[in-house]
Amino acid sequence: MATERTAADLTELAQDPGPDPRGRVSTMAAGLVGSEILKIASEIRVLVAGGRSVCNLTVGDFDPRQFPIPERLTAAVEAALRHGETNYPPSDGVLRLRRAVQRFYERELGLSYPEESVLIAGGARPLIYCIFRTVCDPGDKVVYPVPSWNNNHYVHLVGGVDAPVPCRPEDGFMPTREALRDSLPGARLLCLNSPLNPAGTAIERGALLGVCEAILAENETRGRRGERPLYLMYDQIYWMLRSAGTEHVTPPELLPEMARYTIFVDGISKAFAATGLRVGWTVGPVDLVSRMSAVLGHIGAWAPRPEQVATVDLLEDPEAIRAFHTGFQRGIEERMELLYRGFQALKQRGLPVDCLPPAGAIYLSARIAPFGRTTPAGVTLETNEEVRRYLLEAAGIGVVPFQAFGVPEDRGWFRLSVGAVSPAEIEAALPRLADALAALR
Ligand code: PMP
Repeated sequence: MATERTAADLTELAQDPGPDPRGRVSTMAAGLVGSEILKIASEIRVLVAGGRSVCNLTVGDFDPRQFPIPERLTAAVEAALRHGETNYPPSDGVLRLRRAVQRFYERELGLSYPEESVLIAGGARPLIYCIFRTVCDPGDKVVYPVPSWNNNHYVHLVGGVDAPVPCRPEDGFMPTREALRDSLPGARLLCLNSPLNPAGTAIERGALLGVCEAILAENETRGRRGERPLYLMYDQIYWMLRSAGTEHVTPPELLPEMARYTIFVDGISKAFAATGLRVGWTVGPVDLVSRMSAVLGHIGAWAPRPEQVATVDLLEDPEAIRAFHTGFQRGIEERMELLYRGFQALKQRGLPVDCLPPAGAIYLSARIAPFGRTTPAGVTLETNEEVRRYLLEAAGIGVVPFQAFGVPEDRGWFRLSVGAVSPAEIEAALPRLADALAALR
């Protein structure tokens, strides 16, 4: 019979970092900035726990009650578990899934890659990390447009040098060849994302062509000088979520030579509302992908095997995908339209708001700029953060300032995400927003 052990109470020791807390972790870890969005989310949780009703437009995620994953995927994950798909997957992904992704890109995007170009991981994040790790040495320059999602953090993780490029609302917050011109020389990696988190806009064919021409011109010069090339991380995780009339374009379809330098980031997280299932993939040049696979192998951030096997079923069934997207996209667009039309109506009433037309992803760029005005409590609103807090307290609306996406200026731009709210919640929140803005003096 086993004897009962008395557990040593280590709580105090585990909680006390001692007299020199800073020396206990690496400089990198100490300097890593936590997610601003998660901080806002926890503030909202406190309000909701206290009984407040909040229209939470902050989460870049789906509420499964609003947006469940495809039935087909649920059934296939259950079946895979029952069939004993429970051991380690191959470190570069289950071969059937890599081939399914290969066929998916051929069929849906018109891009024909060899299967060695495809690597599977536990969502897009580990792949983004692997891309940075695989192409960047410490001190390498990484160019990314702002606003954009998390690039600054990945640069920090690999000890790179940031080169953010500010983008303008009139360009849908997308970069142009001109905007990037001064940044590309000497850069190792350019990060693009379309449709864009946070703006909900998509890069246009002409703009992407200009950027790709600039990359190829830069690499031709470097080739002649024997210098290392510039790569493009093309994060298209939202490409299946687009409004009617929004086109999705890829670098190699515009200029095939770009296949040498483009590394795609993609997965099921957003395309199938499956953020918790953790299946992502990258598609890119074979030499890079095989080194990424080696990096990933040691991190072990593989996609769970049952989810990998289930994703094969879904990707190989174009009819199931189309049927799912019809309802899914309708649900997203209904919410986007409510917000868009609501904001336009407030603007017409003379309230200090505006927004860009929604084109893709689950986001809307809204401008809420009551700067210099004073709240009933006597606070004069000067910054995005003050506006955010006022909207949450006075109108019960949670939004994320573009500061969370690397924008330094307080110009009143916010991300509104529709993935976790019902149409009724949006309809109820708009009059509260109007009242809160009208109450400013
Ligand atoms: N890229 C972008 C642009 C995203 O917005 C996100 C999720 N917020 C990711 C990648 C990460 O996706 P995953 O959940 O698959 O790690």
